[in-house]
Amino acid sequence: MNSSRPTSYTEYYRRAYALLDELTPLHTDCGVVCGKACCQGDETQGMRLFPPERTVLPVTDTEDGGRLAVCAGSCCRTDRPLACRIFPLFPYLHADGHISVEVDLRAYRLCPLATHADGVRFDPKFIRAVRRVGRLLAQDPDIRAYMAEVSAEIDIFRQFYAKHSRPSARIRRG
Ligand code: SF4
Ligand code: SF4
Repeated sequence: MNSSRPTSYTEYYRRAYALLDELTPLHTDCGVVCGKACCQGDETQGMRLFPPERTVLPVTDTEDGGRLAVCAGSCCRTDRPLACRIFPLFPYLHADGHISVEVDLRAYRLCPLATHADGVRFDPKFIRAVRRVGRLLAQDPDIRAYMAEVSAEIDIFRQFYAKHSRPSARIRRG
């Protein structure tokens, strides 16, 4: 892996996409199970872009200052934003700066892999790639701040689900 710090955002995302390459959460096509639930958007829905990730898809601003790539449920695979490539996991940024790969609990109700994460065998290569992507992107202060923000959101969801006696949605490793 190229460990030098990227010199542009284009390079950050080119390298992040390359790390994930053709990897997917499972060895098999998880979309068969759920009817591609994560790709059932419309012209008002989409996937949140990392800052300042570019996309060929139409972009809309969110109320909280974020940007959504709007896909209406279909896209060319090579055009997928990073959020789609790592879904339903996220490179969680801890307070001490280390990164672990966690289920993105914002996906809990939508994605069966998130809902049943404790029993799912994620492809270890996919988990490792998501962690590497996190380490790469955390070198940039703006992206790092975004990762911290999403990690805090995941904490809120975890607390909510813990309170309502739902599974912790920790991923099973190995
Ligand atoms: S919703 Fe989850 S299980 Fe379904 S296609 Fe998306 S990532 Fe796979
Ligand atoms: S951009 Fe593509 S991969 Fe991402 S949610 Fe839309 S259709 Fe699915």
